[in-house]
Amino acid sequence: MKKIPLHVQIFAGMGLGLVAGLSLNLMAEAGTIDRSLALSVGRVGEWFGVVFLTLLSMIVVPLIVASIISSLTGVGSNQGVGRLGGRTVAYYLLTSLLAITVGIIVVNIVQPGAGLDYNELMAAAQGELETRGMQAKSPAPGAAEGGITGIFADIVLRMIPKNVVDSSRSNTTILAVIFFSVLFGVSAVAKGGETAKTVDGIFRSFYEVMITMTNGILHFAPIGIAGYVLFVTATTGLQLAGALAWYMLAVALGLAFHAFVTLPLLLKVITGRSPLTYAYDMRDALLTAFSTASSSGTLPLTIQCATDKAKVPERVASFTLPLGATVNMDGTALYEVAAVLFIAQMLGDLTLMEQGVVAVTALMASVGAAGIPHAGTVMMVVVMQAVNLPTDAVLVILAVDRVLDMARTTVNVWSDSIGAAIIAHFEQ
Ligand code: ASP
Repeated sequence: MKKIPLHVQIFAGMGLGLVAGLSLNLMAEAGTIDRSLALSVGRVGEWFGVVFLTLLSMIVVPLIVASIISSLTGVGSNQGVGRLGGRTVAYYLLTSLLAITVGIIVVNIVQPGAGLDYNELMAAAQGELETRGMQAKSPAPGAAEGGITGIFADIVLRMIPKNVVDSSRSNTTILAVIFFSVLFGVSAVAKGGETAKTVDGIFRSFYEVMITMTNGILHFAPIGIAGYVLFVTATTGLQLAGALAWYMLAVALGLAFHAFVTLPLLLKVITGRSPLTYAYDMRDALLTAFSTASSSGTLPLTIQCATDKAKVPERVASFTLPLGATVNMDGTALYEVAAVLFIAQMLGDLTLMEQGVVAVTALMASVGAAGIPHAGTVMMVVVMQAVNLPTDAVLVILAVDRVLDMARTTVNVWSDSIGAAIIAHFEQ
């Protein structure tokens, strides 16, 4: 029997999850079945999703260490490492700023918060979260308070591991693992000679084993992805989604512009590669990002697709992609700006100057956000503090956050993938 291609299996899983989840949600809404039944089935779906995501997350730390070190030792000279790092950071900064600009423009045009009653929406949001058994509590801020400089200082401190073994215990402290790996790679290159060669050999083999492991885990993708889609469609608040439709539309429009116009244009103009073919090559990673809402968890697949299918040289992909999955979050930056401005519109709008503060803090918050579900929303609290908005207001958008998280994570991974191709183009 002919083997069904993986992406077809994934699409089939998504379709099944969608139909089953939406039916349950609509039946619960109509009173045909008990809401708790829809929630329980949704949670079973979530379990399958979590198993898949955990399998991927399991290899993230060793993969990051092996890929960054072997990439840098492969570059071979500190000058080369500096150039690669400089280009990577320049790309991340440029695309995140472009995304933020699009977010500000879209929200100012669509005005999703205009005319909405904040108190009414807040009461509805709290009720919605409670009926769905979700936490009706504002997420704790993920970074220090104290305005733009406070956030910057906090990110730097979180980047340097006090103890690298401790930092590698959680996928939320990956930035510190990356920092250590970069220093390790740079030091190996500085030492040079036999040492550099041995380090390169060891970590390259380690990296190859990790990628082989990823290929094995991939077989579980259709079930895991179906489970996540079932979970999201069965448990997302449909009524609140109605009230927040303009907000969701504004975020979706901004993300779509960045994903379908800005990034493809950059890819096409700079490298001459076809964005459609490139997206097709990256399909497994993009679909996984969409359903798991975790760029860190998707990382093994992003590397695998970029190197195996899209033919991005390993040396570039294995440096830029781990870094990108952790710090380059265009979708998250755009979403944070849009969400904060939406909340501000309900409460009386922000001046141009304050919107500028939102833009800069959102950029830093997106760098500081971990590549896991809802991290962007947690970090958003910091942006709200910077312009004195009540942080509790995050509750208003929490019930519909998962769907937007799926979309912004896909944009995050898409931007990382395009970044790898663009940087590879300059490196050749
Ligand atoms: N879930 C996103 C990611 O993993 C981060 C966010 O919540 O915006 O890329």
